Amino acid sequence: MDALSRRLASQAVLVLDGAMGTQLQARGLEPGGCPELWNLERPTVVEAIHRDYLAAGAEILETNTFGGNRARLDDYGLGDRTRDVCRRATEIALGAAEAFAAATGQPRALVAGSLGPTGKLMAPTGDLRFDQALELFREAAGALREAGADCLIVETMFDLDESRAATTAAVETGLPVISQLTFGRGVRTITGVDVPTMVRTLEGLGARVVGVNCSTGPEEMAAVVRELVAHATVPVSALPNAGLPEYRDGRVVYPMTPEAFAEAIAGFVELGARLVGGCCGTTPEFIRRVRARVKPAG
Ligand SMILES: [Zn+2]
Repeated sequence: MDALSRRLASQAVLVLDGAMGTQLQARGLEPGGCPELWNLERPTVVEAIHRDYLAAGAEILETNTFGGNRARLDDYGLGDRTRDVCRRATEIALGAAEAFAAATGQPRALVAGSLGPTGKLMAPTGDLRFDQALELFREAAGALREAGADCLIVETMFDLDESRAATTAAVETGLPVISQLTFGRGVRTITGVDVPTMVRTLEGLGARVVGVNCSTGPEEMAAVVRELVAHATVPVSALPNAGLPEYRDGRVVYPMTPEAFAEAIAGFVELGARLVGGCCGTTPEFIRRVRARVKPAG
């Protein structure tokens, strides 16, 4: 049995970490800068963020590779360093998890290799063919696996075709895969995909967990979680943003408090979600509140 399945077999709920991008920005990443480059150039900062999430109670860390595919990295002239970026990111997260486990005597947190969208539109709307997307995701997923990731997480996908490419590449590595779409308002993605179609497709490809992340705030996400639990035969994950982002004085602000967020997450657990955490705008304080709320004894 793989490590993720073992944890799922022994724990009713698993807590993932929160946002990486907004944490990097808080530590000086410029708007428009490449978050994944920090795996190579400022690894101690990335590791410190992982450490903060571990101290907050995260049981699964996501690697800093949301944009770690060749299509996205090409935008920064870094496409040829894709494998390096993915490898280093995994080593940093594993190092943080191992050090924390050694210091606390707790089981080592799992490391989930993050696979986010390419930023390109799939054909026929755009010009990214399915086979090209598959190759992009194979490169990243392969490097994440080689470096020792425990599982892979396909996230923030709004196009089911792109998710199919990423999920296929992820499952091919042999690692367990968490596969998540992002939803707009209501229970369809912005490309019109409904939950039963999503679940059938992703489970059919071999996803070990299906779920929802990013999207709007937790209030809107509850209906999606309810449908996911109703249709999925595998465990369900839910990682919302800290509310719907607002622009204030030219800055993106997430309106939700950690307390309200944790309360909403507790509601998702009551609905049946088994993997919970945070997306954009969440911080270690959000995860600390979530952990205390959904796993008070642990
Ligand atoms: Zn997000």
